Amino acid sequence: MEQKLQGQVAIITGASSGIGAGCAKALAAAGVSVVVNHPVEATKAAAQAVLDEITAGGGKGMIYQCDVSKEDEVQRMFADTVKQYGVLDILINNAGLQRDSPFQEMTLEKWNFVIGVNLTGQFLCAREAIRIFLKQGIIKGRSRAAGKIICMSSVHEMIPWAGHANYAASKGGIMMLMKSIAQEFAPSKIRINAIGPGAIKTPINHSAWETPAAEKILLELIPYNRVGVVEDIGSVAVWLASDESDYITGQTIFVDGGMTLFPGFSTNG
Ligand code: BGC
Repeated sequence: MEQKLQGQVAIITGASSGIGAGCAKALAAAGVSVVVNHPVEATKAAAQAVLDEITAGGGKGMIYQCDVSKEDEVQRMFADTVKQYGVLDILINNAGLQRDSPFQEMTLEKWNFVIGVNLTGQFLCAREAIRIFLKQGIIKGRSRAAGKIICMSSVHEMIPWAGHANYAASKGGIMMLMKSIAQEFAPSKIRINAIGPGAIKTPINHSAWETPAAEKILLELIPYNRVGVVEDIGSVAVWLASDESDYITGQTIFVDGGMTLFPGFSTNG
């Protein structure tokens, strides 16, 4: 297999499960040394299992515990990564979670938890990555860019989501964070883009596809008529991190089987 990103180094946040784990595996297969981030002691075994699969397939990396909503932990993770590998090329700003609630019952704790991990976490990690990329500049023979950040957004950066106001607000925030820093650092040759996944089979949305009946209802929202898998996201992450997409910055690529095409309008309106 062609190793499109041979020798590069990436931090993938929230990589002990779901889309983050899928991205870590895809990047490792493309030749990247991957830092498989996980948030707490309880997620360590899962992160190790992801890394074990990667190394069994000939890939390289390490696991790293860090809660992305905590400034000191984030700073330590980036510093240790550079200490270990001497360089950082890619950040997959992925860690994210849901704490759903009818709005009138949403506690401040649920609001802060989701915004803290999904949005503040992406701010803290992007800031550390940018500081490193600015210091490194373009390293000849590595990549045409001085660094690449891929923010994991969602179709819910544009599709409102009743009962999930904290989550949708975090994703809308990620979109403008991504675009604003893409504008700020394009002259420094740092590319920042987002992926907007639709419904991808992961633990975060298990109840939406766990039974055939649930999956049938979910498919009404997906014109392409299949629920996504993490490999659908991993391949786009590899491409967005590669020089093949060197002229793309400040964009969200929706990987959603057409969920953002307002499928309800195919028979109405
Ligand atoms: C959410 C999933 C949901 C999907 C489509 C994602 O961002 O995390 O729970 O299935 O959007 O609505």
